Formats: sequence, structure tokens, C-alpha cells
Amino acid sequence: MQKNDVVTVKIEDIGNSGEGIGKIDGYTLFIKDSIIGDVVEARIMKAKKNYAYAKLLNVVTPSEYRVEHPACQVVRSCGGCQIQEMEYGRQLQFKEDKVRENLMRIGGIPREILSGAMEPVVGMEEPFAYRNKAQFPIGTDRNGRIVAGFYAGRTHSIIPNRKCALGVEVNERILGIVIDFMEEYRISSYDEGEHRGLVRHVLIRYGFQTKEIMVCLVINGEELPHGEVLAQRLSAIEGMTSVTFSVNRERTNVIMGDVIRPLWGQMYITDRIGDVKYQISPLSFYQVNPVQTENLYGIALEYAGLTGTETVWDLYCGIGTISLFLAGKAKQVYGVEVVPQAVRDARNNAGMNGIRNVEFFEGKAEKVLPEFGRRYEEEHGGERYHADVVVVDPPRKGCDEGLLGTIVEMGAERIVYVSCDPATLARDLKFLRGEGYEVERVRAVDQFPHTVHVETVCLLSKKAQ
Ligand code: SAH
Repeated sequence: MQKNDVVTVKIEDIGNSGEGIGKIDGYTLFIKDSIIGDVVEARIMKAKKNYAYAKLLNVVTPSEYRVEHPACQVVRSCGGCQIQEMEYGRQLQFKEDKVRENLMRIGGIPREILSGAMEPVVGMEEPFAYRNKAQFPIGTDRNGRIVAGFYAGRTHSIIPNRKCALGVEVNERILGIVIDFMEEYRISSYDEGEHRGLVRHVLIRYGFQTKEIMVCLVINGEELPHGEVLAQRLSAIEGMTSVTFSVNRERTNVIMGDVIRPLWGQMYITDRIGDVKYQISPLSFYQVNPVQTENLYGIALEYAGLTGTETVWDLYCGIGTISLFLAGKAKQVYGVEVVPQAVRDARNNAGMNGIRNVEFFEGKAEKVLPEFGRRYEEEHGGERYHADVVVVDPPRKGCDEGLLGTIVEMGAERIVYVSCDPATLARDLKFLRGEGYEVERVRAVDQFPHTVHVETVCLLSKKAQ
């Protein structure tokens, strides 16, 4: 196979970045914008020994799962969604298969165990308009008009689109007000290449439970000229609670600056997950799909099997969302998180909700947990610390192996593993199975419909000796 060859191939699978995967005589082709079941014609762009990237030229026979009229106009050029053109039901099936396949291949978990443990993937009833946060880059098009949209995949060219199908409806109205304001007062958009111009991004957050709205303009400057006019116009939107700007004068891909300044209203909005309230500022981390987050935490809670007498460790706890969700059913919860601001938010959230049986430690889980164990032993005449239930929710790279070793040493009865990457989940489960734990229950949750990402919750129990 060589560059510029044109091939016809049937798509059998979806790769890690969302490309369709087809095979010709064992040679693998990755073809963006094709979906499982399509027969496509594609041109080879980059050929390697065993695989090639090819550009979709034409869908010869559309898959039975192909969506005829995608919800979004820019579905192919925008980098946000990868599999929106595949029917939602088939997306869910794909995600469940991906989890199963990783657990078998990388985790070495026997099929019999998985078929007993795996529960049906949790999808959304309404898989659109689910995101409570959007960050629109602002630019200027060839005709000198201000545009807002999203980056094309892998680049920073802006695909104009004020109506993202994954975001809430009010985004469009807010962007309209911001753009009209910029054009009227001749306020420039930021130019990344030249590191010139003012408005870089518009961050919008929406509280699904409280209906409170936050707008934060990220600017390459210390002041927003005529900011009071913009604030007054935005404040006319029902639910508007917070209008701020963030100063980011760096040449960087990081969107937000460290400083947030008020324009109108409060500096934060409030939202709820289950019964727990959260204060969310422009810089706070907060789960972006609140509907599925509640489902995800509900499963974690069920798997934790709490009766009210347990001590629970919530490792990689972020702003303490899982800790606070579990606290009502546990005797004591300890959260561990490495980012200091997140720990401050977690403590603040606990206080605001009057939850007293939680304590948060700042530091790396792989340091904090063993240190806690050592201190306990010293204070209890050498008696080893026993953990009842441990929840982990690590970033994509998964858990530190030393940490898993400590959890095993502490004899945790149950481990609830919340994962955003089935490959590292599988690797860590392999380790834990080797140390006397068995996979009891596994469930994929679709936190990010139309993207390739999948979240998984897994329950492991210590096997009887
Ligand atoms: N459980 C939280 C957040 C999970 S995201 C929620 O559901 O909202 C993973 C978190 O792990 C991030 O907040 C990240 O800052 C934190 N983290 C990354 N490495 C860590 C480590 N070694 N020890 C503790 N926390 C870590």
C-alpha cells in the first residue's frame, strides 16, 4: 500500500481517536469519519509497514447504523465529536465492547468471569445538550467578522459554530451578545500566531439543577473596555448569576488565566449532584455531564456496599464529589487529592453541606495512604491499619502500582475502581487479581456521548483465603 492509492474497504471497528478501522489482507486502515458497517472508498495519506491513515472519499454503502441527518452542521470538521454519525445505540454497544475487549486482552480476565460481572452500559435518554460547560475560542474570519466556535481536530483553526449540539441552548444567545458587543465597540479577538488582540475564549457554565449561568471572558489584557455594557446585556438573561473575566496574557494553550475579576453578580454559581451542593467558580474542576455523573456515582455507591459502619478512602478525589456522595452512607470518608485548590474546594464543599465525617488530605495518593498506614501502626503498637472500602478514580494513566500494593496490604474488603481509560483499568485489574482480588461487577457509563470516551465502574472483592 502506498500514498495516494485508493482503496475500498469495510469498516469493522473504531480506533482510540474515533477513526473507523478496516482491514485489507491483514493490513489496517484508519479512516476518519467512517463508522462501523460502512463500506468506504478512501485515499491513503500516510502508509506504514502494517497500517495506514486514509482520507474518506466516499461512503460506497452506508452502514445500517449511519445517522442520515447528524444533529450538528460541522460534525466532520469540528474536533469535539468523533462518532456522532453512528446511531447512539450502536455507540453504546461499541463502548461496552471496548471495555470488555480491554479487560480480556490486557487484563487477562476470563470470559466466564466477565460475562457474569458485566452489566449493561448506562446510556443517556437524551444524548444531546448534556454538557454544563463550554469553552468557545474567539477569532476573526477573513472578512473581519468575529467568530466563535471550536477547534478543528488536532489544530487551532476555529470552526465557527455557536450552536454545539452537546451544549446547552443558552450558549448561542450568550455568544451572540458577546460577539455583537465586540463588533459594536471594536474589541479585537485574540490572534494566537501574533499573540495580539484581546478576547481569547468565552467560558460558559450552567447549573442543570439550579439553572444558574456563569459567563467568563478570557482576555489577553488587564481590563475589558466597556465591560459594564456587556455585563448589563448578559444580566438580562434569566438565570445569569456570574459575569467575570479572566486575565491570561501568556502564549499558551492553557485556556484560563489564574486571575478572575468580577464584572457583574457573584464569582461563582451553585449546582447539585444528588443532594450535595457545590460552589463552582470559573477555575473549579466539575464534572461536565451532570446527569451521567449522578448515575456514575450511584453505581459507585451501590458497589461500595456501605452499611454505615465503614471507613471509605476516596483516592484521586478531585473536589470531593465522590467522597461527599458516599459520606451519608459511611462512618468516615477520607479523600486524597494532589491539586491544592481542589482540596480547598473539597473542604469548602463539605462545610457548605454540613458534612462532618469527611477529611481531605493534600498530596499524592501513593504517598498519603502508606504514610497514614505507618502512623497508624506507630500509634497502635504495631497493629496494621485495615481499610474497609477503597474508591479510586485516577486520571487516564491509571493507578500507581505502589498504591495498589498499599491498598492490598491494608486488606481492603472492596475496591471500587472508577476509570476513564479501559486499557489502564485492565492493567490495574490484572495486578489486583494477582493479589487475591476478584472482579465482581463491571459497568460502563456513557459520560460523553458522541465521543470515543467511556467511563467504567468496577467492583473488586477480596477473595476468601
Ligand atoms: N473523583 C473526582 C475527580 C477524578 S479526576 C470526581 O469524580 O470529580 C482525577 C483526579 O486525580 C484529579 O483531580 C487529579 O488532580 C488527581 N490526581 C492525579 N494524580 C494524583 C495522585 N497521584 N494522587 C492524588 N490525586 C491525583
